[in-house]
Amino acid sequence: MEKAQIKKLPKVELHCHLDGSIRKETLRNIYVDQDNPLHLSDEALHQAMTAAKQCSLTEYLSCFRIVSSGLHTQQALQLALLDVAQQAAEENVLYLEIRLSPMHLTTEKFSLEDVAEALITAADIAERRYDIQLGLIFCCMRQQSESQNKLVIDLAKKYLGKRVVAVDLAGDELKFPTEAYSSLFAYASRLGIPYTIHAGETGSLQSALIAIDFGAKRIGHGIALAQSQKGMEIAKKQEILLEMCPVCNIQTGAAANWQNYPVEIFRKNNLAICFNTDNRTVSNTTLTNEFFQVDQNSYSLSEERILQQTKTAISYLFTDNEAKLLLLRRLENFVSNRSENNLSLNNFSTLD
Ligand SMILES: [Zn+2]
Repeated sequence: MEKAQIKKLPKVELHCHLDGSIRKETLRNIYVDQDNPLHLSDEALHQAMTAAKQCSLTEYLSCFRIVSSGLHTQQALQLALLDVAQQAAEENVLYLEIRLSPMHLTTEKFSLEDVAEALITAADIAERRYDIQLGLIFCCMRQQSESQNKLVIDLAKKYLGKRVVAVDLAGDELKFPTEAYSSLFAYASRLGIPYTIHAGETGSLQSALIAIDFGAKRIGHGIALAQSQKGMEIAKKQEILLEMCPVCNIQTGAAANWQNYPVEIFRKNNLAICFNTDNRTVSNTTLTNEFFQVDQNSYSLSEERILQQTKTAISYLFTDNEAKLLLLRRLENFVSNRSENNLSLNNFSTLD
């Protein structure tokens, strides 16, 4: 498929980190606003914010440093969130769940509540300005203490339903194994907060299975599940959605190569999957590019397959049913208009 063809299809994105997805021009403006302009050429700034095509996870994570140190004010968060929302809207992403670690954005003068409220206000503005709907996911971090992570969950509870839709667990899953977070997710569960967990990315199959056992209905990456038929059966039985991030997985070596990237095996086993950018700037990608790369290098896609994936992803949004139904209606309208024009969607029967 051509990129232009993919770009115009309605899509949703469920796994996108705010700090990894800001354009360099926006970051420059953020620093200028803070009277602390970046003295870096465009090339140097690009290098600081974008990982090499093949890199270690440590190199990948180093690209976040320059961004995170600028995001400690209401104005900065607003510019950042508007930027990412605009990028997604421009490629027909109808709904974007954007995630971030609130604890990383606090200072003595900028509290967790300040972070949440700045983002909520920014999301309201973004929705008025662009044709996109937004949900916020707050990330607990593996390297943070349990008490810090519980504060993040408390924050999500406070703003749940006011743009905030869920919590996540991110960070190095090899150094900080998933099993250590059992009580954290029991806590989120008691508070009625939905969650996704980064697991089975660079870590083991076991890590993904533990995340499922914790009650996560969505797993960030989850590609290690492809190592085991039993693992895939568990994910299928529990109706787990795998938030796959193809370009990032190839880039960091989480997946060895495109030929073995587990789209086909997951589809054969009827697992629910969706593609995501993870980090638009760090991985130098777009959602359109994710579909394009998979189609070119790994698993043949079609308009029907992409629309079907959009439909699947909509059913897993961490938002209320009303919002899901509205999105489904938009998708159905798109499909019926295409069918009237005799474009290749006459067989899109499963949208009912
Ligand atoms: Zn991620």
